Amino acid sequence: MATIIVSFGVPSDGFRSLYENNHTVHIPPAGVRFSREEMLALLPEADAVLACTPFPREMVEAGRKLKLIVCYGAGYDAIDVAAATEHGIAVVNIPETVTASTAELAIAHMMSMARRLRELDGLVRTMQPKELFVMGRRMGTRLEGATLGIVGMGRIGGRVADFGRVMGMRVLYTARTPKPERDALGDEHVDLETLMKESDFISLHCPHTPETHGMISRDMIALMKPTAFLVNTARGAVLDEEALIDALREKRIAGAALDVYIGEPNVNPAFFELDNVQLTPHIGSNTLATRNQMAQAASEQMLAAFSGRPLQNLLNPEAIRSL
Ligand code: NAP
Repeated sequence: MATIIVSFGVPSDGFRSLYENNHTVHIPPAGVRFSREEMLALLPEADAVLACTPFPREMVEAGRKLKLIVCYGAGYDAIDVAAATEHGIAVVNIPETVTASTAELAIAHMMSMARRLRELDGLVRTMQPKELFVMGRRMGTRLEGATLGIVGMGRIGGRVADFGRVMGMRVLYTARTPKPERDALGDEHVDLETLMKESDFISLHCPHTPETHGMISRDMIALMKPTAFLVNTARGAVLDEEALIDALREKRIAGAALDVYIGEPNVNPAFFELDNVQLTPHIGSNTLATRNQMAQAASEQMLAAFSGRPLQNLLNPEAIRSL
């Protein structure tokens, strides 16, 4: 029977099939993570890991029996895939499980900023009604007819574009490869400069890679319309946070919404001083339905690996070849 480590106390209903197959699952209490020391102590006996927290080279190397690392979600930038490949350890992710909930969050952020929900909720609690219930003041932005710019037209970007189109938005997008299926729907493939200049809402959905690191740079942010909003549910390091803080402070853009940060779980305190930014703590996939689906998908990948069946979303096929 196999030994499995789940590095964080995530909702665990979806791990039932692992217990039913008599595997041993080490998982910390709900909401708690295994410390680095606990991980390094458990890893030598582990056959598979569900990496809900960063998984650097030292952990890969401590996993002397490891066959499989499952990334708990879509973005695998915190897993040292190259080290795993060197050691013949397969790495998979489970991106389909998080597409809907992350796209819904991006849209929620967009709508909330467009209609000033944070600000107005505060005012309803504190302001005299006769000063507040006034037509023509504190007006919002309509999404219908606005231009939505999707940076990274993959699973999540595609879903956000679908929502946008349903709401009557014009959709522009960037990606590395052509997307004829999106073009057929009327979405327009443009370069990043055009997208930054023309969009009213910009939503980031590319992975964090050496190529995308800092891609939404000071120069790119400077191209945005003063009425435009930026949403980042991708990864913090895809954008230049300092440049964004400057643009928000000087009101050169209308607003931003962030779910992800450079140096998470720390958030640059400069954001707390700004009322034109809304902040959430990396909750793209944080719905119970999604968490259960993630645990189930991760369990299926592990059961497949233990019984020699093919893996889905294998990120390093060369690791298997080197076995
Ligand atoms: P995906 O299906 O792989 O899509 C990524 C898209 O980004 C692809 O269209 C890809 O282009 C594009 N891309 C890659 N490099 C690019 C570049 N240099 N310039 C422009 N576009 C580029 O991934 P996904 O499932 O949509 O997830 C996207 C990211 O969201 C994840 O990597 C993760 O970091 C983040 N995420 C965050 C949360 C959260 O909780 N906030 C939850 C889930 C995911 P091609 O199609 O041409 O390759």
